[in-house]
Amino acid sequence: MREIKGKKITFLGAARSGIAAAKIAKRHGAIPFVSDAAPLREIGDKITELEKARIEFEIGIHSNRVFEADFIVTSPGVPDDSAPIKKAKSLGLEIISELEFASGFCKGKIIAITGTNGKTTTTTLCAYTLNNAGLKTYLAGNIGTAFSDVVDNVKENEFVALEVSSFQLDHIKEFKPYIAVILNITPDHLDRYENSFEKYIESKLRITENQNGNDYLIVNADDKNLTGISTGAQRYAFSTSQVVERGAYFGEGALYFKDTEHPDKICDRSELSLKGEHNLANALAVLTVAKLLGVKNSSVCQSFSSFKGVEHRLEFVREIDGVKFVNDSKATNVDSVWYALRSFNEPLRLILGGKDKGNDYSAIDEPVKKHVKKIYAIGSSAEKVYGHFKELVPTEIKESLEDAVVSAFKEAEKGEVVLLSPACASFDMFDNYEHRGKVFKEIVRKL
Ligand code: ADP
Repeated sequence: MREIKGKKITFLGAARSGIAAAKIAKRHGAIPFVSDAAPLREIGDKITELEKARIEFEIGIHSNRVFEADFIVTSPGVPDDSAPIKKAKSLGLEIISELEFASGFCKGKIIAITGTNGKTTTTTLCAYTLNNAGLKTYLAGNIGTAFSDVVDNVKENEFVALEVSSFQLDHIKEFKPYIAVILNITPDHLDRYENSFEKYIESKLRITENQNGNDYLIVNADDKNLTGISTGAQRYAFSTSQVVERGAYFGEGALYFKDTEHPDKICDRSELSLKGEHNLANALAVLTVAKLLGVKNSSVCQSFSSFKGVEHRLEFVREIDGVKFVNDSKATNVDSVWYALRSFNEPLRLILGGKDKGNDYSAIDEPVKKHVKKIYAIGSSAEKVYGHFKELVPTEIKESLEDAVVSAFKEAEKGEVVLLSPACASFDMFDNYEHRGKVFKEIVRKL
């Protein structure tokens, strides 16, 4: 553990994780200072929290005080090419991420889960499965609760299921998970990696760099970007399409785990509560973790069938007169919608659109043609969505999310699904994707 008593530590970024980390520093006798350049109105309510904890801070500026520190703890939201990081580097100051900082205080075992897509779902299912099996597991990371929020509570024989982003991995030194999982890597966030996919991959692979022979690395065998990773850990894999040497795989309608020559059948796919090929992969990753920790097959199976899913990710909302409503507001890119559409056998009425980040909708032409009966286009990208799909399937522009839901319900026949899976960010009409999902659910509840 890093000795921080009496040390001056600057925390860049007053996000949840930055504040939680500063509080740990305070509790352990260091002198924390929080600095955030965002305007006061965006930080507002966090100030009370800092004041209450008697932590010094500055808002709306990064002053020179930032650099009067023994080291700096940076938030995932602060890019490497930002002025304070550049200056700290030029001064030779040590810069670490909140993940690195918090892990130094962790007495329990860390299960770190990274990947471009599926982190939240997999991490949540992992904690759920382990807790159900009697292994006390905290859920933290990029998810609502910061690692720093829980780390002081974790005891030696307990676990933390940690959702880890590549930004958090950028500034690690000794971070060493007991089990590391890499779900998949596809191009995303390249703006933060000098537009280099290799740099982005390298950053995700750092999750294993401090692991040794007592630790485990679990990777997706179906992802060609993940072949040939060098690791000091014991290697396991999961696959939805092929038998793996060691790990979990899908075949003949069932999920298997194999550690020796003889695979163990864990459960039938039909028993999984989560739909879709992507969630099968996520479940296989969790299955591997659970088996490495000695969880019984029947317990894994029970958890996989009772897991309710995570809010805003293909979340079932309600069924009215045989019409189901599903909230997939978290689908903020075309890739996610591709997976969402393939998760249904029912005809879909798809609500699509929002703040477009330069989407190429042709990537979902095929599943749209196959699964979608009608598209209801909303938000600032409504015209673009309409222009792209109008020849392919019936498409109509709707003024608001409410108009879209009400029309879709009116036109839907028994056995159909109204799906909000917008492929876009929400900021044109909502605060964030959570807000959009909540409004959708509220409208559906009022129908
Ligand atoms: P993350 O935390 O990495 O953003 P989530 O679990 O929140 O991942 O899922 C985000 C979106 O990504 C979901 O809408 C889902 O459709 C899609 N998704 C989930 N798991 C996977 C996966 N294994 N591969 C590809 N897409 C996935």
